[in-house]
Amino acid sequence: MEFKKIQEFIEKNNIRPSDCTMHTNRNLENNGKIRVLVLKGESDAWVEYICPKCGHYGYTKKTWKRPFSIKCENCGKLIRVQKMKTLNKKDTKISYR
Ligand SMILES: [Zn+2]
Repeated sequence: MEFKKIQEFIEKNNIRPSDCTMHTNRNLENNGKIRVLVLKGESDAWVEYICPKCGHYGYTKKTWKRPFSIKCENCGKLIRVQKMKTLNKKDTKISYR
């Protein structure tokens, strides 16, 4: 289970913070994780997550709205992303080349 799809997408397409409406990467309880990326001009969010309940890994696209949540496609748990804000450059771990 590798958590790198969005990272690869960012590197492949040379995405910069200024290209994003929203980009967050956060840890959840029980080693769960969620990363959300919304590109400017797009209405969908790319979502990569590890479910905090069952450990399922998912990578999917979902209509972007606030507050944002996604259902685990394995166990149905609703994973909420609260207090959305754009991360600063230090937190986004985007590599600049
Ligand atoms: Zn789950």
